[in-house]
Amino acid sequence: MRLLLADDSLTILEVVGSFLRQQGFDVITASDGVEAAIKASTLKPDLILLDVIMPKMNGYQVCRLLKNQPATAHIPIIILTSKDQPREKFWGYQTGADEYVTKGFDQTPLLEAVRRHLPNGDEVAATADCHENLVEDEFDILARSNDLLDAKLFEATIINEIGKLASSLRTLEETASALFALLANLTGYEAGLLAFSYGEQGVILSKVYPGVGKDYLDQFRHYLEARLKKEHPESIPPGGFTLEILDRVKTGIVPEIGEKIFDPGRVEAVFLRSKGKVIGMLAIAVERITPAKSDREIMELFANHGTMVLENAWLYEQVRRLSIMDSLTKVYNRRYIEERIREEINLSQRHKTNLSLIILDVDFFKKINDTYGHQAGDDVLKHLMVVCRGVTRATDILGRYGGEEFIVVLPETNMQGAQIVAERLRAAVANNPFPTCAGRIPVTISLGLASIPSRFIDSAESFIKAADLALYRAKRTGRNRVCCYDPCTDGYVVNNE
Ligand code: GH3
Ligand code: MG
Ligand code: MG
Repeated sequence: MRLLLADDSLTILEVVGSFLRQQGFDVITASDGVEAAIKASTLKPDLILLDVIMPKMNGYQVCRLLKNQPATAHIPIIILTSKDQPREKFWGYQTGADEYVTKGFDQTPLLEAVRRHLPNGDEVAATADCHENLVEDEFDILARSNDLLDAKLFEATIINEIGKLASSLRTLEETASALFALLANLTGYEAGLLAFSYGEQGVILSKVYPGVGKDYLDQFRHYLEARLKKEHPESIPPGGFTLEILDRVKTGIVPEIGEKIFDPGRVEAVFLRSKGKVIGMLAIAVERITPAKSDREIMELFANHGTMVLENAWLYEQVRRLSIMDSLTKVYNRRYIEERIREEINLSQRHKTNLSLIILDVDFFKKINDTYGHQAGDDVLKHLMVVCRGVTRATDILGRYGGEEFIVVLPETNMQGAQIVAERLRAAVANNPFPTCAGRIPVTISLGLASIPSRFIDSAESFIKAADLALYRAKRTGRNRVCCYDPCTDGYVVNNE
């Protein structure tokens, strides 16, 4: 067995070297760090003993270098020093050392450590093949060591930046948005998706840049969900993922069709893991034809260090969610849907886009309660929102406005578009009796809708009032129908009559 012993003290080289030779080892020596690194690479020892303080390169630097090059990574390294400070030991292990032995008068601990780490014959044979023959000079070694340090510093800086997000940001959206912003500084991408599931729920947060349209986003999303389903089906939440477009307020609306075309060949994706389980995926569509190796490494850093930050944000979100959700139907409650309507009105005014609002009410709901019981009535309301999710877009916003009255907010949708959705919803409800604890119950709903721009609508209150006026008309004219508010006359237009 061949040992490499590196120490700048001739005495140590002689004392420890002759002791090890007496034990039957073939001992090569080096008196500085560079010599140690060169001999380790070229003479292929079975184990290396490194002093910490040596000229040219210290023991930690040699250790880090050897542990990071494939040809020498498998060689066990024992750091040998007179220091016995916890900090020194910590750093020794951080650089990849297998053991840390304090120099002393008694050589037994050293001999025991050497025996513990010496590979047996099989291991040597198995790893020997992969040695590329490294011919190295001093310059080569120092340059490599520098590159490695730089790479480690780069990595540490990224990790530090990711870690900072944990203390400065709150919501999942904010955190994801900041992660994507950081990622944009490190790699060029045109769209990024982050799927994140936790318990029953899951969300796909998307970051898009100009040129990417909804068609692109849809394909990217399907690609991501298909991969999760195929490779880690346990990570798909029971209710599926909802989609959120990040930074829409800052970057404006996403067009239906963009000029960029989604290409799965340009996707770089990593799974997010928590406690050994896959809980999501981070994916970017890079601008180049083939993703670079360094992109993958950066993505992995993000996955490894960002997941916990995202989880913390999610927990915070959960608490917030409880306060904005209706517990029965799992859509937003009245207070929050009103807040969202306000935000969407601002957005539509700023970006000069249409915005529609549907208010819907179950017909003769009192009778359903009276006939089938309150529990069945509750089931009807729950199922109504399931149907509603099914016929609306992921970006439409659902809320419970009152007992059996609900609101659907449709961003970037004009009256004709909203009318189609409303009619589809009406038909979906009327044509399929609802499953409840009291069996299948036929249900119908009446719907009123309003759209902006309209000179009569300038607030959430007036918007809801306008849709409610149309709903009232739908009720008065026979129920199970859609009526539209007339944006020009502050009256209503009647459909299906
Ligand atoms: P219309 O077609 O005119 O809307 O008639 P309606 O019977 O649906 O309207 P009304 O407003 O008279 O009755 C609404 C009923 O909804 C009365 C109330 O007891 C019931 N309700 C409100 N919230 C809930 C709920 O959470 N669960 C159940 N099961 N019933 C509810
Ligand atoms: Mg009703
Ligand atoms: Mg009502």
